[in-house]
Amino acid sequence: MRQQNDLPLKTMELPLAESWKIKMVEPIRTSTRSEREQWIKDAHYNLFQLPSDQVYIDLLTDSGTGAMSDRQWAALMMGDESYAGSRSFFELRDVVRRLTGFEYVIPTHQGRAAENVLFSYLVHEGDVVPGNSHFDTTKGHIESRHAKAVDCTVDAARDTQLELPFKGNVDTGKLDAVLAKYGDKVSFIIVTITNNTAGGQPVSMQNLREVRAVADKYGKRVILDSARFAENAYFIKTREEGYADKTIKEITREMFSYADGMTMSAKKDGIVNMGGFIATRHEDWYEGAKNFCIPFEGYLTYGGMNGRDMAALAVGLDENTEFDNLATRIRQVEYLAARLDEFGIPYQRPAGGHAIFVDASLVLTKVPKEEFPAQTLAIELYKEAGVRGCEIGYLLADRDPVTRENRFGGLDLLRLCIPRRVYTNNHMDVIAVALKNVYDRRDSITRGYEITWEAELMRHFTVRLKPL
Ligand SMILES: *Cc1c(COP(=O)(O)O)cnc(C)c1O
Repeated sequence: MRQQNDLPLKTMELPLAESWKIKMVEPIRTSTRSEREQWIKDAHYNLFQLPSDQVYIDLLTDSGTGAMSDRQWAALMMGDESYAGSRSFFELRDVVRRLTGFEYVIPTHQGRAAENVLFSYLVHEGDVVPGNSHFDTTKGHIESRHAKAVDCTVDAARDTQLELPFKGNVDTGKLDAVLAKYGDKVSFIIVTITNNTAGGQPVSMQNLREVRAVADKYGKRVILDSARFAENAYFIKTREEGYADKTIKEITREMFSYADGMTMSAKKDGIVNMGGFIATRHEDWYEGAKNFCIPFEGYLTYGGMNGRDMAALAVGLDENTEFDNLATRIRQVEYLAARLDEFGIPYQRPAGGHAIFVDASLVLTKVPKEEFPAQTLAIELYKEAGVRGCEIGYLLADRDPVTRENRFGGLDLLRLCIPRRVYTNNHMDVIAVALKNVYDRRDSITRGYEITWEAELMRHFTVRLKPL
């Protein structure tokens, strides 16, 4: 019985749960440590070489691994497979126009195909393309045309323990210097949102505005590499002054208003398993890209995609630019980060939009860098719980093309990439506890791996290793 002098009942704030419920499930199974020890040995200690059946929780990538909604599956059935003038193309084009303000849209089969088509028109031998930590395929499409990608990311991105809201930003001082130095050689500026390579860190609206001003000063155009543009908009809404009351769609419109065009990997924020596109406000870019789309990808109203996939993408883009869907996703990544904080495990701070990047150099301090600490950590985590992460470190960095020496200059990270709408927070708990168990015995891990075979380029996919 409540007494007269009791404190008034406090209503608790309701926790925020997922903005969806589950209609279809896909069974996954655990395995024993001894099974996993054999499997990873058979895979030459390369996680890319594991059949997915041997993986319990797969954090290799968030690319094409998301779960489509019932509305997307329904749209799939409504796809129009007409060779020319497909209704599904117009649905996709209309959504892209609404979210970006860009008039012209060219579908491609994935993000790198968008780069290939647009850069075939824009990038020429001897050109320079400044940006913020160009994604590896983006850099590949620049360098294969004998042009140079110049990284102008803010220095703060390199200190994993520095807690700043927009660590993905372009350093506009560096950008200005590049434009002043190379002038006519600069084909365009490319800004990656969110900055994948720097740990899924966002770029602020203020920074996009400043990049626009620098571009205008030199008469240059700006492309947004937009794979995670919606997650970037979420961070602007929740971290940047003046945006709390704006909708995600209002924010994306403003973000793209500072750009001239975009390349998109729809496998990320489009929440489809395959797809991409180019969009631009400039007719000359559209006309130029058209000539490369047709031979490389296909006719302009499908350009490498099925009608049904364009239909599902149109719905995915619309859904994933709603706040609730993004909040569910990013709060899950933050939940995992909070569990790691509890155990004192160091990662690139703050948590990124799509992944946690564990700083292996601060965990396996006894493993020499020549023995690949982040890869060692990835293997330990797999053996511990069947969780597959991805080394973003010294193996990925390849050798210097001239000296053939390993490149130990960058960060050595274990990326735990969270697929969209696929795992629950119980899975996050398994990941966190498995990592804690490895972390607790970190001092007993003193040796890593040596390479027994490697490809000349992009070696991390196929490299063979042996324990030391
Ligand atoms: C994934 C990605 C790409 C390439 O897209 P694909 O669909 O994998 O070809 C380009 N840029 C960024 C930032 C990406 O994350």
